[in-house]
Amino acid sequence: MPSFSLLFDLGSTKPTTRDIANTVKAGGSGALTAAERRADQARYQEVTCRSALNRVKGMPFEWTLNPYRGCTHGCHYCFARRYHVQFEMNADDDFASVILVKHNVAAVLAREIDRPAWTRDLVAVGTATDPYQPIEGHYKLTRRCIQVLARGRTPMSIVTKGPMVVRDADVLQDHARAARCTVCMSVPSVDEEAWRMLEPGTAHPLQRLRAVRALVDSGINAGVLMAPIVPGFTSSRSKLERTIKAVADHGARFVGCNVMHLQDGTRTHFMRFLEREFPSMLPRFEKLYARKYAPEAYRKEVQGLVRALQERYGLNKRAAADDEEPSAKAAEDAEQVGFAW
Ligand code: SF4
Repeated sequence: MPSFSLLFDLGSTKPTTRDIANTVKAGGSGALTAAERRADQARYQEVTCRSALNRVKGMPFEWTLNPYRGCTHGCHYCFARRYHVQFEMNADDDFASVILVKHNVAAVLAREIDRPAWTRDLVAVGTATDPYQPIEGHYKLTRRCIQVLARGRTPMSIVTKGPMVVRDADVLQDHARAARCTVCMSVPSVDEEAWRMLEPGTAHPLQRLRAVRALVDSGINAGVLMAPIVPGFTSSRSKLERTIKAVADHGARFVGCNVMHLQDGTRTHFMRFLEREFPSMLPRFEKLYARKYAPEAYRKEVQGLVRALQERYGLNKRAAADDEEPSAKAAEDAEQVGFAW
C-alpha cells in the first residue's frame, strides 16, 4: 500500500481522495508519511479532485463546493466531522488535524461551469468545511473559485467563520456585479466562554463581526448565522440577546439561526467531549438528543425567541428591504439549525 507525503510535494502526481482513503484504511492517518506540519500543527495532504461541484437534493441550493476536507477550526459540534469518516479518517483528532487540499479544484470548477448545459444554479460554498480556514491564506483556492463563479455568472453563498474572507472583498465585489452573492459569517454566540469551549480553532466572535462590517462597508451582502445554537452553552435568553445586539451593532444585513443536531461521527465526538469536559451535562444531552434533532417544541421555542430579538434590533427589516431571504436561507440550511436549553 503506498503512502503519501504531505504538503509541497509538488513534483509527484497527487493522489485522489479515494487513494488517501485506501491508504488510511490500511495504515491509519499515520500512513500519510513525511508530514509537513505548518505553524498550526495540522498536516495537509494535497489531493486531485475529479469533480468540484457536488449536486444536492432537498436543500435551497442545488450545488455545494468545498475546496478542503477537514477543518482546523475544530468546532466540537461540527456536523461535517462525520464526513471525514467516509474517507476512513476519524471524526475526532483527524478531522481537525489532517486536511485534504483539492489543489486542482478551481480548474475543475471552470471546466464544469463552462459546459453549455450549465444552468447557473445557486452554489453553496463551505458546506462541509470552512473555505477560509487558515490554509486558504497559502493556497487561495476559495479565492480562485469565486473568480471562476463570477466569470460564469453563477450565484453563490459562502458560509465561514474565517475573517480572512475580507481579503477577498475585491473578487466578491466582482462576483456581486455578475450574479447574486451572499456571505454568511457563522457566529453562534459572542459569549467568550462558550467560544473557547466549543470552537477552539476559530477567530474571536467580535473579530468575525468586524469582518462582517468590513464586507458590508464594501458593498457585499453579508450577514450572520448563529449556527448552531448549542443547548446549555449558548441558548440562554441573555446570551442570545447579547449576540443579536452585537450582530445588529456591526451592520449585518441579516441574521439566521439553527439549533445543533447530532449525527453519526459528530454525535460520538460531541458526547465524548461532554463526558471528558462536562460530565454532569451528559445525561441531559443524551435525553435531549435521543434522536438526531432536539425535540421540535424546543427548537421552535428558540427560533421564536431569536425571531423576536431580530425584530427588536431591526435585523429582519434590513433583510426584507434588501430581499436577502433566498441566499441567506440557503446558507442557513448549509449549516446546522439549533436552540435553547
Ligand atoms: S468552522 Fe465550520 S467546518 Fe470548520 S469545524 Fe467549525 S463548524 Fe466545522
